[in-house]
Amino acid sequence: MVELKTDTSIDAMHEAGQVVASALTAVRKAAGVGVSLLELDEVARDVLRAAGATSPFLGYRPSFAPTPFPAVICASVNDAIVHGIPDDYRLRDGDLVSVDCGAELGGWAGDSAISFTVGTARPADVRLIETTERALAAGIEAAVVGNRIGDIAHAIGTVCRAAGYGIMDGFGGHGIGRRMHEDPSVPNEGRPGRGMPLRHGMVLAIEPMLIDGGTDTWYAAPDGWTLRTDDGSRAAHAEHTVAITRAGPRVLTAREPA
Ligand code: MG
Ligand code: MG
Repeated sequence: MVELKTDTSIDAMHEAGQVVASALTAVRKAAGVGVSLLELDEVARDVLRAAGATSPFLGYRPSFAPTPFPAVICASVNDAIVHGIPDDYRLRDGDLVSVDCGAELGGWAGDSAISFTVGTARPADVRLIETTERALAAGIEAAVVGNRIGDIAHAIGTVCRAAGYGIMDGFGGHGIGRRMHEDPSVPNEGRPGRGMPLRHGMVLAIEPMLIDGGTDTWYAAPDGWTLRTDDGSRAAHAEHTVAITRAGPRVLTAREPA
C-alpha cells in the first residue's frame, strides 16, 4: 500500500532529508587518501547525533542479512556496488567510493547516496559517476503527477544503457516515509506509461546503481552484506529522496553544491 504524505509531512521529511544531506557533505569533505571507512562512518554519526537524528541503517537486518548492519553509512569501494560495511580499509589514490546514508528525525526517514573519487580520478570513473548522476536527474525529472512509475524507470534506464553501462539487477528505489523502505518499488529500468500512477504526496527514494563493465550481475561478499560486480568492474550509486507534488518534484535530500 502506498501512503500519500500531507504537505506538512513532506516538510517534516525535508528536515530528515537535510540531515542526510549534511552527513553526506561532511563525509565527502572528510574523505581522502589514507582516511578509513570507519572514520567516514564516525563523521556521519557525529552529524546525525548533533541533529538529534537516529540511523535507520544501524542495526537494520533484512531477511538476507546474516548480521545486523553495524554502521550509519554504507561505504562501497570500487567493485563494491552497495551495502559495503565500513571497516578499517584506508582509501587509496584513485578509489571510487559510494556512500549511502539514512536518517530518522521526528518520526520520518531520509535516504540518499553519492559516489565520488579520491585523489587522482580515473577518467572512466568520472564518466561513470557523471552518468549515474544524470540518470538520477532524469528519474527525478520524470517524477511528476500524471506520469507512472514506469516513466521514472524508463528515464533512468535510457540514460544508463545509452552510455553502455550495466544496471544492477534486482535492486532499485522505493517508497519512503515513516519507514525507510515502503511501497512502491522503483526499478531502474522499465517501460514508459506502465505501473502505478504518480500522485501528489508520494515520496520516493530514486537510486540508479550503474556498473562500468556493462553487465548487470553481482555477488554477495563473504560478509553477507557487500554486493560486488561479478566481473570486477567498478560501480556507482546516486540517490535522492524525492516528493512528488503538484508543483513538481521536490528533492528532500538536496545538498549544497560541492
Ligand atoms: Mg540509500
Ligand atoms: Mg534507498
